[in-house]
Amino acid sequence: MAEKNCVFCRIVLGELKSEKVAESNSFIAIRDINPKVDGHTLVIPKKHFVTLLDIPNNLGREMLEFTKKVAWDLMNEKKGDGFNLAMNNLEVAGQEVMHAHIHILPRKEGDGVKVL
Ligand code: AMP
Repeated sequence: MAEKNCVFCRIVLGELKSEKVAESNSFIAIRDINPKVDGHTLVIPKKHFVTLLDIPNNLGREMLEFTKKVAWDLMNEKKGDGFNLAMNNLEVAGQEVMHAHIHILPRKEGDGVKVL
């Protein structure tokens, strides 16, 4: 079920614009609107789940395959020579959009980004 006031649900429904770079049955990938690095991308389940803990296990394989595909695309497009995955789960961990998402951060030598 989509949540009326959820930014990512509204993006999935096409009510809000986004730069979508990939799509599978149950996931989309969009560029982050406020990128920490060039190519900063978010993997988002189409259904509204709040955190990783709410995503059903039967989506696990698709989530991994899709995340790997998007990361490969970023590497092939030379957005990075490596990448970090990050996921903030619940407010105390820094989650601002309460619809589960995985950050893919392409990394380059000397970019100065600190993830952990
Ligand atoms: P988090 O702290 O993990 O919840 O991060 C939420 C991320 O979503 C931030 O990096 C935001 O820049 C990003 N974000 C928020 N609204 C949008 C939007 N409309 N389109 C793309 N990215 C967004």
